[in-house]
Amino acid sequence: MPWPGRIIMHVDMDAFFASVEQRDKPALRGKPVLVGGSSRRGVVAAASYESRKFGCRSAMPMAQALRLCPTAIVVKGNYGKYSAASKAVFEVLRSFTPDVQPISVDEAFMEMTGALHIYEKQWGISGLSVLERIGRAIKQRIREAVDLPASVGISGNKFLAKLSSDLSKPDGLKILDPRAAETELAFMPVGVIYGLGPKTQDRLRQIEIKTIADLRAFGEERLVSRFGEQAREWLRLSRGEDHRPVRLEREQKSIGKERTFFDNIADPDELRTVLLGFTEEVARSLREDGLTCRGVTLKLRLGDFSTFTRSATLGAPTDSTKAIWAVASDLLAKWLNERRGALRLMGVSLHGLSGEEQLDLFASVPARDIETRSSGKQKKVDKATDAIIEKFGRGSIKRGGSLRDD
Ligand SMILES: [Mg+2]
Repeated sequence: MPWPGRIIMHVDMDAFFASVEQRDKPALRGKPVLVGGSSRRGVVAAASYESRKFGCRSAMPMAQALRLCPTAIVVKGNYGKYSAASKAVFEVLRSFTPDVQPISVDEAFMEMTGALHIYEKQWGISGLSVLERIGRAIKQRIREAVDLPASVGISGNKFLAKLSSDLSKPDGLKILDPRAAETELAFMPVGVIYGLGPKTQDRLRQIEIKTIADLRAFGEERLVSRFGEQAREWLRLSRGEDHRPVRLEREQKSIGKERTFFDNIADPDELRTVLLGFTEEVARSLREDGLTCRGVTLKLRLGDFSTFTRSATLGAPTDSTKAIWAVASDLLAKWLNERRGALRLMGVSLHGLSGEEQLDLFASVPARDIETRSSGKQKKVDKATDAIIEKFGRGSIKRGGSLRDD
């Protein structure tokens, strides 16, 4: 082992959406690119490194980013492309270890402690050189799979691994020996500690705490008396200690799909179209996994971040797109009647998943207001649709019309 304890990796794609756009449109390479809503009211979803030199950042209002960098090229995002790239990246990561915890579409922690000896044996090397070789191999395999840059941080826990990948960006690789962390961290700004936001940083600055060394020197009890118990966690992290495990999401309890919009959407037709797309996708994964569901939940978030959920139970387990759409569209229609405002995020998830073929058991149960049993004909439609998507990709088929008229 290169050091006693755990080996944790953090892999993070660089300016992910913007890099995908630059990959696919050579004219955008080397240029400041902002991915986001086309209108100036929208938010930046990703900023290329060229635009970051001007201070542009993701999650920044588009209007502000364009003030900072008026020459930036604004590209409307293409989620299909990003999620395909994301899927391929995660396949690469899982080929190195099954212990992968996704943090977002383009970011993951990997627990490498158990897998390390396999690589040591396979390559006949050990210590830091095996870590470096794994890190390079991950980056190279991602390049081969999706032709995109990634940064990799390797250390003894999640905090230090993420810090390392952040410091190495873009297209970087950094290995931080946790035994050297206390020294390396000392002169870093307190902002590198997660959970320590800009407002708290301001308050700390008022009492002359700017670096991690300042934070440590202030004393635990004095910090706790001013900032509460959370200060103990800051101090633990400031010493490079972090015991959070890499969590595996092996057990899939629900199948869902959600999206934050570039621009808030108020138009009912547009919302229905988005929801129909989600419904087709989740119903298809349901069938792929040989499952049925008993319930549908709609998640809705307004511009002010207030979040609502609306759920409904199906009369019987189903795997039919049509039956799920009937419930999902009904939930949306009821929500729209409440007229609460434009949506920032919408999602749909299926629960009450079951792997058993229960449909026939319910054959004698009369369907009430919603037909939940897949009729023979509907099953054929679903099967044919799945086969076409499998062969030609999503977007090759739209059956919105037939479902929308229900
Ligand atoms: Mg990233």
